[in-house]
Amino acid sequence: MRRLLAQGLDEGALGMSSGLTYTPGMYADAAELTALCEVVASRGGYWCPHHRSYGAGALEAYAEVVAIARDSGCALHLAHATMNFEVNRGRAGELLALVDAAVADGVDLTLDTYPYLPGSTTLAALLPGWAAVGGPAETLRRLTDPAARARIRADLEVHGSDGCHGVVADWDRVQVSGVREPALRPAVGLTVRQLAQRDGVEPFEAFTRLLLDDGLGTTILQHVGHEENVRAIMRHPVHCGGSDGLLTGDRPHPRAYGTFPRYLGAYVREQGVLSLPEAVRHLSATPARRLGLPDRGQVREGWVADLVLFDPGTVAEQATYDEPRRTPRGIPYVFVNGVAVMDDGRRTDALPGRAITRRSATRRPA
Ligand SMILES: [Zn+2]
Repeated sequence: MRRLLAQGLDEGALGMSSGLTYTPGMYADAAELTALCEVVASRGGYWCPHHRSYGAGALEAYAEVVAIARDSGCALHLAHATMNFEVNRGRAGELLALVDAAVADGVDLTLDTYPYLPGSTTLAALLPGWAAVGGPAETLRRLTDPAARARIRADLEVHGSDGCHGVVADWDRVQVSGVREPALRPAVGLTVRQLAQRDGVEPFEAFTRLLLDDGLGTTILQHVGHEENVRAIMRHPVHCGGSDGLLTGDRPHPRAYGTFPRYLGAYVREQGVLSLPEAVRHLSATPARRLGLPDRGQVREGWVADLVLFDPGTVAEQATYDEPRRTPRGIPYVFVNGVAVMDDGRRTDALPGRAITRRSATRRPA
């Protein structure tokens, strides 16, 4: 794994990500991750873990990745850093204290958030990690096996599944956002409890039926966030905006289309949670520096013209949970590599973007 990682970094990868809430990422222990982060650090990249839990044990999960970064000397970016579920209400300050201590200790640490309360993932992700061993076919088989079903149900409804952040599943807060099988479309928009009521079955039965009928292809919204946590974290100086958006499904999370205008409209203009200069920095210079792009992210002579020209008085997201693919307002011009892709409010057909690797990032465009 170290050799493959080194090769990928030498070929231009900016760093390494880890999905520690998900299988198979959750099977990696701290020693394994530290060994890999040493390679990332040796190439000047950064590690972006989706840490193990946003629910029970969230702070311990953050502390684990900070310790790995410190031990390996690797730069760290916390993916959609938030504190979710009832157990973490009002606890953003504890996360930010951990961040401040790490930064004071010399860890090169940044984080991102999306400015919404629900999370978004797949329905199958809620399953306990052991139920995914062997791959999707084995998972589907277990969902029809009475003994395995009983154990899955106990993990989800009594103990708290590791796939559900160690928290007992609340079927009122799990809402279907997309299905793979067209025939299952009537389920989109319903919570698992509403689905169960519609079909006259227990929520666990509705959950497993949907997974089986949809071949594990279902995506969900999980209504588990806290507004005061989201606001506190977005104000931190090492914060970057990030959509964490999934574009698939009939009703994807609106953050895919709405995140960046929502910062500028709802959180700067309407609520004053961030000043305009702070928000602009969180959406441009800080992420460009995190990615190691030496000539992007600021308006400077000689730098690459990646520019978003917005009207601070009107910019706003228009994507909603019911219509998540609506594009924002108040953004008349967008330039990518100096070429207009939005021109006076109209999309041009120009495609001036190109993939950036760690090597091309440090080369001047021709
Ligand atoms: Zn995630």
